[in-house]
Amino acid sequence: MRFYSTNSKQSFVPFREAVFASLPKDKGLYMPESIPTLDEEFIKNIDQYSFSEIAFKVAENIIGDDIPSADLKRIIDETVNFDAPLVALKDGSYILELFQGPSLAFKDFGARFMSRVMAYFSEKSNQTLDVLVATSGDTGGAVALGFTGVPNTRVTILFPKGKVSPIQELQLCTNDSNIHALEIDGTFDDCQALVKKAFNDDDLNEKLNLTSANSINISRLIPQTFYYFYAYSQLVKQGIKDVVFSVPSGNFGNLTAGLFAVRMGLPVKHFIAATNANDVVPRFLSGEAYETRTAIATLSNAMDVGNPSNWDRIMDLFNQDISALKKQLTADTYSDKQTTAAIEEVYYKDQYIVCPHTAIAWLAGQAYRSKNPGDYALVALSTAHPCKFPDVFPKGIGENIKVPESVNELRKREQKKQLLSTSYTEFKNYLLNYPA
Ligand SMILES: *Cc1c(COP(=O)(O)O)cnc(C)c1O
Repeated sequence: MRFYSTNSKQSFVPFREAVFASLPKDKGLYMPESIPTLDEEFIKNIDQYSFSEIAFKVAENIIGDDIPSADLKRIIDETVNFDAPLVALKDGSYILELFQGPSLAFKDFGARFMSRVMAYFSEKSNQTLDVLVATSGDTGGAVALGFTGVPNTRVTILFPKGKVSPIQELQLCTNDSNIHALEIDGTFDDCQALVKKAFNDDDLNEKLNLTSANSINISRLIPQTFYYFYAYSQLVKQGIKDVVFSVPSGNFGNLTAGLFAVRMGLPVKHFIAATNANDVVPRFLSGEAYETRTAIATLSNAMDVGNPSNWDRIMDLFNQDISALKKQLTADTYSDKQTTAAIEEVYYKDQYIVCPHTAIAWLAGQAYRSKNPGDYALVALSTAHPCKFPDVFPKGIGENIKVPESVNELRKREQKKQLLSTSYTEFKNYLLNYPA
């Protein structure tokens, strides 16, 4: 499979180059030249396959012969080595639990696949690979745990000071010596701006072999298509064929992956993009201009994004045709107050605790269903384990969250991080004079 830039559809690069470059030189985003449809028989019989079998079929379909079958199979088995079950709620909707991986968030899918693909491609070259990643919390943990101890790789993670939860910070700061955690005195958008600047800095790129691990990297999006197919297979097992996915969205990578899955032949009735107060996309889909903003801090902090980095991909996928896009996608925005109320409602009805991001997806699903009654399964993607956001929960709920044993193991380790300002010069100097 070859990839083009959203800014120039005439030139193509192979998968390997798209993975390592992360961003094309023209500052667009890489997109697959085509998205081949899976064979109908496979979709028809999808309930006969395991999660990793589904993932392999889907990956092979999009990656083609850029990675030999046996290697791809191994990469998939190391990526999809935890479950993503559908949990039925009493209101008839479903929660798709995507947080059973090592960092307790759905980003494990993207990060684990990407780290192994990068390791596969760089096996033969002996140069150290410098991975840069900006995180509002969950990306960093997933990337750190995906790369920790991987030879010939060095990972620098930038996170906004005071804006990630204690468990998220633990996951960032307790890894092997090839993982460096930088606490930036600013917002997530500041972190992202520093990383983007580094990639566009010719001088720095001459000295370091830089690559990105943000959701802008195309190799992060491919594995995120797997669980849409797997969720569908679980529904088919119960005789359900119509599905609406509600996706809690920040940078819109998760949603982009869902739209890729549809192009591959997954029958999805509709998508809902659920956001917090950072509502650039809901405003746009309701007819306003597309206007990026400074991120607003909310309870669902992994979605505090004022300039969603994957939105151009979605527009490109639909050839800038907004009315075609609107047929497949609606968007909705919710306040912190509504988020807390939703957490309470789900808890008191089902004794089930959703994280604040999941709560927003659940709410958007409920709103969609009240406007669009019908016989379909409503699936809210659950992007993180609630224990990652302990301060969010009202009294009587937070105490009942069961913290997984893996977290207690992290508490025993030494924590390492360094504080930097939002100055690019300071950041660049850090990269050029890495502490040993
Ligand atoms: C990253 C993240 C999101 C947003 O996903 P995008 O792909 O950036 O839209 C939602 N919830 C959680 C818990 C996350 O970590």
